[in-house]
Amino acid sequence: MQRPEVGELTPPDRTLMGPGPSDVHPRVRRAMTTPLVGHLDPAFVDLMDEVQELLRYAFRTDNEWTIPISGTGSAAMEAAIGNLVEPDDTVLVPGNGYFGGRMASMVERAGGETVTVDAPWGEPLDVDDVRAAFDSHDPDLLAFVHGETSTGVLQPDVSELTDLAHDNDALTIVDAVTTFGGVELRVDDWDVDVAYSAAQKCLSAPPGASPLTLNERAMAKIEERDATVRSWYLDLSKLADYWGEERAYHHTAPITNVYALREALRLAAEEGIEARWERHEHVAGALRAGVEAMGLDLASTSWLPSLNTVRLPAGVDDGAVIEGLLDGYDIEVAGGLGDLSGEVLRVGCMGHSARPANVLALLAALGNVLEGEEIDADAGLAAARERL
Ligand SMILES: *Cc1c(COP(=O)(O)O)cnc(C)c1O
Repeated sequence: MQRPEVGELTPPDRTLMGPGPSDVHPRVRRAMTTPLVGHLDPAFVDLMDEVQELLRYAFRTDNEWTIPISGTGSAAMEAAIGNLVEPDDTVLVPGNGYFGGRMASMVERAGGETVTVDAPWGEPLDVDDVRAAFDSHDPDLLAFVHGETSTGVLQPDVSELTDLAHDNDALTIVDAVTTFGGVELRVDDWDVDVAYSAAQKCLSAPPGASPLTLNERAMAKIEERDATVRSWYLDLSKLADYWGEERAYHHTAPITNVYALREALRLAAEEGIEARWERHEHVAGALRAGVEAMGLDLASTSWLPSLNTVRLPAGVDDGAVIEGLLDGYDIEVAGGLGDLSGEVLRVGCMGHSARPANVLALLAALGNVLEGEEIDADAGLAAARERL
């Protein structure tokens, strides 16, 4: 084997406006260059407490069980599902997007049975359909996605859904990966039993340490389990030894990711979580006004500020648009998934990426890339500028 000749790391300087990761804030980047300490160092143990306190603030919860899971958002999703779902539990899952499908396959791996409540891709679940599914299937858990990143749909009426579940003695698991830190989310007020997220969406930290919160109802269900959790790594009764009182070794926490998460959460607390939700709505509102004034539509009937699905003009190749934005302007966006594949651009407006300059740059670049199509690029820019 020859000695490889690999050059110095020089990633391109992109503006990240896709479904995640988003642009990392300079202060978060700086936090990641600070020295490592051990994961059981008293200094790190104090830092763990701070991260938990900051997470509770951002989740709007007093839940004691509020921790970062080592791994990306899917690890937090699997921790939620793997611990809550016991073999033979029935779980109601959503059929209106890509991540609902991922939840379903995790439920099945955990030994649970799924029943699906459907809505077209681009629309939220209808509370009446969820009620009907409860009446016919009597599920033990209701899992749903607060912000479906594949469709740009915000699930409204969260507390109506959690009330419905609790009236039927079921618990709720909410995917808040694309809403946490960017869109109104109130875990306690809305009586959500379990919610999880990721670091690289509206928090603008690198992926690798993912927020999870569970209330007492959820912890009681876990404590009463007969069957052991199938994952050793994500078993919350084992993680309790590390994140709980004892602080005993379970696995080595990703120290640098926890530093980054702490700084990102500190930024969110400085801004104020409500002000941060408003900023996302304001900046993404200008983006939305801009694309609509250009003559393009959003593919979602329930707007999710952090992720905008922009329908492309008929006959336009999404791959060419994405490549044009990346190669010509260093702007990253993504294409559609599943039922929306080939039809839309997915434009994120998350965390540190949710800035007026990014919206204007994106609209200008999109206007250039779509030149020759029947769009009004100037009107788009003017509309966004007016809103900002
Ligand atoms: C990104 C995302 C996930 C998965 O997170 P990873 O960090 O990619 O593992 C789950 N759910 C939603 C809604 C997401 O947007």
